[in-house]
Amino acid sequence: MATTADPVIGVLALQGDFREHVAALKAIGARSALVRRPDDLQSVDALIVPGGESTTMWKLATTAEMFEPVRKRIADGMPAFGTCAGMIMLADRITDAAAGQQTFGGLPITVRRNAFGRQTESFEEPIAFDGIGELAGVFIRAPWVESVEDGVEVLARVTSGPAIGRIVAVRQGNLLATSFHPELTADRRIHEFFVAMVHDRGSA
Ligand code: GLN
Repeated sequence: MATTADPVIGVLALQGDFREHVAALKAIGARSALVRRPDDLQSVDALIVPGGESTTMWKLATTAEMFEPVRKRIADGMPAFGTCAGMIMLADRITDAAAGQQTFGGLPITVRRNAFGRQTESFEEPIAFDGIGELAGVFIRAPWVESVEDGVEVLARVTSGPAIGRIVAVRQGNLLATSFHPELTADRRIHEFFVAMVHDRGSA
C-alpha cells in the first residue's frame, strides 16, 4: 500500500480544554494544529471540538466568523470528535439550550445539556465502550444523549447509578462524540480510535 501523509487533526481553540486534546494527540504521535480562524481550517483533515462551555463556544465561533465555515466542513464530511461541550456542538438538537443557542450539528441526535444534575456536576464513572472496553469516564456538567436517529451507533452507556442506561458516546460515519472527557485522563484509546477513523475517512 502506498504511504499517505499523516492527517492533520485540528483542535478548535476558541475556548475550553483544547490544550489537553493537543497533548493527547501528541502522546499518540498524531499531527495536530490549533484552529482559531477560518484560514486554519484549510490545513486540517479533521477537527476536535473540546470540552468547555457550548454557549460560549457558539458565541466565540460566531464572533470569529468560524461558525459557518466549521458547520460547512462538517456537513461536507470532515471527521470531527466532540467531547462534552463539543458533543453538544456536534448535535443537531439540544434540550435545555440557552436562548438562541446554535450548534455546528452533523449528528442526528438530541443532547440534554447539564443532564446529570447539580449534585453530580463532576464525577468519574466506569464506562463500557464498544470495541475498546472499560475506561474511566470523567464527567463535568456533562450532557447525555437523550435520543438518536436511525443510523447512529451507540458506543457507550452509563453502567451504574441513577443515570444507568443513559447514552454517553455515539458515532455516525465520520462523527464521534462523548459526554465525558477522555482528554482529561491518561488513557489515549479514544483518541486512537478517532485518529483511526480519520485514517479510514471516506471508506465508511
Ligand atoms: N455544560 C457545558 C455546556 O453546556 C459542558 C461542560 C463541559 O464541556 N465540561 O457546554
